[in-house]
Amino acid sequence: MKRTIFEVILALALVGAGAFGWTNWKQNQTASKQVAELKTATEEADKASKEKTDAIKAAEEEMSALRAEMEPLEKAARQLTAVKGALANGATLADIETSYKSQKKLSAERQVGLGAVRMLTKGAEDPGSLEAFRKALEMSELGDRKNIVCAAQLGLLAAGEKITVLAECLPKSLRLEPAMEDKSGKEASAEKTGDKGNHAKDDDKKSGEKKAVQWSYDGEMGPERWGKEFPTCAKGKSQSPLDIRGPFVKARTVVTADYKEGPLKMVNNGHTIQVNVPAGSKLRIDGVAYELLQFHFHRPSEEKLDGKPMAMVVHFVHKNAEGKLAVLGVLLKEGNENPGIKTLWANMPLEEGPEVAPDGVNFNPGNLLPREFDFYSYEGSLTTPPCTEGVRFFILKSTVNVAKEQVAAFPFKRNARPVQALNGREISTN
Ligand SMILES: [Zn+2]
Repeated sequence: MKRTIFEVILALALVGAGAFGWTNWKQNQTASKQVAELKTATEEADKASKEKTDAIKAAEEEMSALRAEMEPLEKAARQLTAVKGALANGATLADIETSYKSQKKLSAERQVGLGAVRMLTKGAEDPGSLEAFRKALEMSELGDRKNIVCAAQLGLLAAGEKITVLAECLPKSLRLEPAMEDKSGKEASAEKTGDKGNHAKDDDKKSGEKKAVQWSYDGEMGPERWGKEFPTCAKGKSQSPLDIRGPFVKARTVVTADYKEGPLKMVNNGHTIQVNVPAGSKLRIDGVAYELLQFHFHRPSEEKLDGKPMAMVVHFVHKNAEGKLAVLGVLLKEGNENPGIKTLWANMPLEEGPEVAPDGVNFNPGNLLPREFDFYSYEGSLTTPPCTEGVRFFILKSTVNVAKEQVAAFPFKRNARPVQALNGREISTN
């Protein structure tokens, strides 16, 4: 009986142990499953976290790239603000103008620059910008500086001026159709080479393309109104002619004329009688050769001496290799008949028209010069529109005679611009 009880207990114990073990095992299994799940979760979490880290890293990289991009933009913006600030009160412009004024003459490049700064400071309507651009344009006519011509033309266009801009000056996007382009080009070149008055030889050759801006010595388009179409005539500070009076400064310049005889060619251009001179006649200023292009007459003389004009003046117009103009003025005083003028008057066209070249008539411009070469000299301008400045004047002190009848036979009763303000210029004499 004891044994049976023992066996039962043992069996129970075994069952118990087994049950315990199974429970244990079962528990273990659950735990390891949980661990595995946990592990997966952790791994997933890790993965997500790595993705997040990568994203942050990428974002950071992007940020730094953006910062690198922003830096120059910010710098540019700061610079723009600085420029705007500097220009806002006009002080910078005033400084530039002052420094430019202290120089006797501004280059075309500087005029364009001044126009641009003025436009930035004062807006597109600023008349000073217009003037600067116009001056640059006029000055550039003397040489063939396309970039300055373009800058000035585009500046005027930007300011709302009705101006024909050279086709080649326009950005490609603004260019017209070829046919139109050709037309606008022609108009612009007519404008560019336009009416230089009596002082430019090629004027008459291109008279067919001349812009239809008329000017005269009286009435609607008289000298007081020239500035409306030709701003330099009104606003220029070195205009010709002058009333020549002291005090004078001592001139150290040496001037000699070497004029040659050649076939006579004359034109009545509606403003004066002009003699176009074949190449070879020269004026030498301190040894620098200036080619004589043409000479023409004014009645009475444009220049005055101590407030008094002479009966007439001959202007001999010269140009050096750099395009600088020099005018030699010979005053004609009423007196004996002038043999040189006798030849000229016998051949001159009385009505406006093309150049005439009378058969077999030669002329030496030197016939109209006095023996003595003492002079008054100053920086001036063309005395006809567009009144371009940068022209050196030498007015001889010695006069030559002209008969009263010869003066009366000149077909222009009055073709003299009034004297202009000296504006601080020096008149020198040798
Ligand atoms: Zn003249």
